[in-house]
Amino acid sequence: MKSHHDISRMYINGRWVGANSHGTFPVYNPSNGEKIGEIADGDRDDAQKAIHAAQEAFGPWSGRTAYERSKYLHKAYRVMMDSKEHLARVMTQEQGKPLKASRLEIQYGADFLLWYAEEAKRIYGETIPAPRSDQRFIVLRQPVGVVAAITPWNYPMSMITRKVAPALAAGCTIVLKPAEATPLCAVEIFKIFEKAGIPSGVVNLITALNPVPIGEVFTTHPMVRKITFTGSTEVGKILAKKAADQIKHVSLELGGHAPFIVFEDADPVYAAKGAVLVKFLNTGQACISPNRIFVHQSIIEPFIEEFKSRVSKMRAGSGFEDGVSIGPLVNDVAIQKVDRQVTDAVDQGATLICGGRRLKDNDLDKGFFYAPTLLSGVTPNMLIYREETFGPVAPVISFNTDEEVLEMANDTNYGLAAYVYTRSVSRAMRMLEGLRFGIVGINDINPTAAAAPFGGMKESGIGREGGRDGIAEYLETKLGGFSI
Ligand code: ADP
Repeated sequence: MKSHHDISRMYINGRWVGANSHGTFPVYNPSNGEKIGEIADGDRDDAQKAIHAAQEAFGPWSGRTAYERSKYLHKAYRVMMDSKEHLARVMTQEQGKPLKASRLEIQYGADFLLWYAEEAKRIYGETIPAPRSDQRFIVLRQPVGVVAAITPWNYPMSMITRKVAPALAAGCTIVLKPAEATPLCAVEIFKIFEKAGIPSGVVNLITALNPVPIGEVFTTHPMVRKITFTGSTEVGKILAKKAADQIKHVSLELGGHAPFIVFEDADPVYAAKGAVLVKFLNTGQACISPNRIFVHQSIIEPFIEEFKSRVSKMRAGSGFEDGVSIGPLVNDVAIQKVDRQVTDAVDQGATLICGGRRLKDNDLDKGFFYAPTLLSGVTPNMLIYREETFGPVAPVISFNTDEEVLEMANDTNYGLAAYVYTRSVSRAMRMLEGLRFGIVGINDINPTAAAAPFGGMKESGIGREGGRDGIAEYLETKLGGFSI
């Protein structure tokens, strides 16, 4: 692992470089506040250089055969798998999640490299019957060009490969800016691309403490033809508005406010187990984290009982310790946001069943830990009913009828993930069809995979990542009309 004195660099045009300004910024471990590294603080000039490198590389890269591009991605997959343990340790140190969760994320992240290594060979065009007998139509699918990507800190490695793998498979080149909280994870992933021999300029990494100037260059530089962003809805809107000026392609994977619905025909104990697992995944810092848990009135007691008993066994702490399932939140602002939502709910009549406070004992005060929290009696007037929490708080709401719960579940500006627990096939189908969310898990808390389209409706985003849809985001359609 890195010594304190190393300065990590950016990766531009196949070289590891410092910032043009010579500036650097520190990186901290959110579990204990210790400084774990120092990294180049890039600015506009660096971003422009990287975009130029990507533009230079675009012709040769897109001109390679799909089989050649596939080979590089296969190689990157193998290198990533070989580095699994090292990568997991870097992630736990920088992001805080338990080592076991880091390993799962590395696997998920590597899966994109493998899946798109294969999909590169399946970018099919079409021929279409033409209206004139002397006419022929042929449809090509070509790479959009240079891609600018911005990624978040909560899944600091897989969110990179989820963008880079399909972009490269499609024949695009890319410039990526990771979150300022987790740039070292990004450096590790780019080392993998380097080891895989991906040609200079095809993948470029810019790190910066202040994302604003980089975002401005990405959205205004004429060589960038596509913006792909994963992060908050607020920032997604800013980027989409700016990108509109040059009609750049835009893919956005934004916030969520997932409903988790437990019908009266479900086993409340089984459903509570699922709810706990998915709610506290990444300490609630996931865009698919349940934010409103709707439980049928007739089974709410056993559900809460089981939920509470499972939460009481969860331990918070360093992700390197065995048995820890609750990692830190990203920073103090996150703690305050969570606490404000809990206080507001309690003030307005919700019942605090457990948690509801920052954890400080046993040195936890050096990091950003919040107790896993269960609230019941949550109502629509409370902040937590509308705002994304991004923390370990589970608000439970009771309901009576299917119509009522469907309406409540859809009553949000977000539309990313939803979960349904029922034993009835027809109820499951009605919910799948009626929920205005891009991903619906039916008795399933992990409806994600490299092969499956991930993305949201409404203010949760535009476009999909993963699967066939994921590569389409990096391609555009060209019609050839021939008169013969
Ligand atoms: P969160 O609130 O979960 O940290 P953000 O949307 O703020 O989510 O951050 C996600 C990514 O967006 C990070 O890489 C961050 O640096 C970047 N980001 C934040 N604000 C801007 C901005 N104004 N322009 C470009 N990128 C930004």
